[in-house]
Amino acid sequence: MIARRHSKQIHIGSVAIGGDAPISVQSMTCTDTRDARATIDQIRELEEAGCELVRVAVPDMEAARALPDIKKGIHIPLIADIHFDYRLALAAIEAGVDALRLNPGNIRDPEKTKAVVKAAKKRSIPIRIGVNAGSLPQQESKADACDAPSVESVASRMVELALAQVRLLESLDFDLIKLSLKAFDVPTTIEAYRQVAQAVPYPLHLGITEAGTPWAGSIRSAVGIGALLLTGIGDTLRVSLTGDPVEEVRVGFEILKALGLRQRGPVMISCPTCGRTEIELVKIAQEVEQKLEGIKAPIKVAVMGCVVNGPGEARDADVGIAGGGGRGVVFRYGRVVRTVDEKDLLPALLHEIDIVASDWAGSRRRDQFKDD
Ligand code: SF4
Repeated sequence: MIARRHSKQIHIGSVAIGGDAPISVQSMTCTDTRDARATIDQIRELEEAGCELVRVAVPDMEAARALPDIKKGIHIPLIADIHFDYRLALAAIEAGVDALRLNPGNIRDPEKTKAVVKAAKKRSIPIRIGVNAGSLPQQESKADACDAPSVESVASRMVELALAQVRLLESLDFDLIKLSLKAFDVPTTIEAYRQVAQAVPYPLHLGITEAGTPWAGSIRSAVGIGALLLTGIGDTLRVSLTGDPVEEVRVGFEILKALGLRQRGPVMISCPTCGRTEIELVKIAQEVEQKLEGIKAPIKVAVMGCVVNGPGEARDADVGIAGGGGRGVVFRYGRVVRTVDEKDLLPALLHEIDIVASDWAGSRRRDQFKDD
């Protein structure tokens, strides 16, 4: 069991962030926000994948004007991402968004900052202060120009910048604050979050920025976000991927599921195959993975290639197979239910998956079958 850092709880719409609230998964649209229809459609797909909060870029007034329609067309809290222009922040608040991502220090005029914070406070709209390593102010260095700054020094500068923004909000009597300190470099990100987690009680939004394509970015994010979560740091997360944002949500939940922090949809255990594999396991695993995409129940499915390690894992799962000698044993809730020829193994497994998924849908659980 991971002991979580005790952070202050805030609410973004109906979603609690921080304290003992579940770690939420969020994403960001990649549509043109001015196109409300396309943005709503993408958010609906994200909702279907389990996304719990969504952020949209608000680069101009036309995008701000689309926010009320977007808000009406979706079911999850809407966060407006704004840079520099306080009028966009005021328009977004007026449009009914549930939170802002905005660095108040970027609005140079203190009176304009005050106006935004006052409006956010009046409607209890949290503000996320987001510091990215890539946008740190240039620093004059006496060191050799070829010397790369250390992880600690970049992280400290990120934290310093974030805390300056926190102090600015606090001086305006505003504490509905969430923070993120993202870098592409995983050790820098971890160090920055570690430092800021000790400095302030506010909830933390985790992410590795510009992590890359779904393959490399998922690994990078899993390492960085996973390492932080394992030390109890983090209250909400976004996996940033170059691609369909639905993938960000899937990966986000996989990270949480791997650490036992959330349950969502099935988990598949499949062996890596080796010289002992006696069935066409890769093909079976791929087919099963496809099947599981359409299932919401948090069932555990094991696809194992032989009788050495296979039966143990298959027995431990809700449903599983262990292949061997052109045949396979099918397990459900820890018991052998069938032994079939290899050609019948996949259909038999898919059939058992349907049974177990419908048990979950009907609120019957594995423990209720123990003594059947
Ligand atoms: S379960 Fe069997 S076939 Fe699969 S990797 Fe392990 S030993 Fe090899």
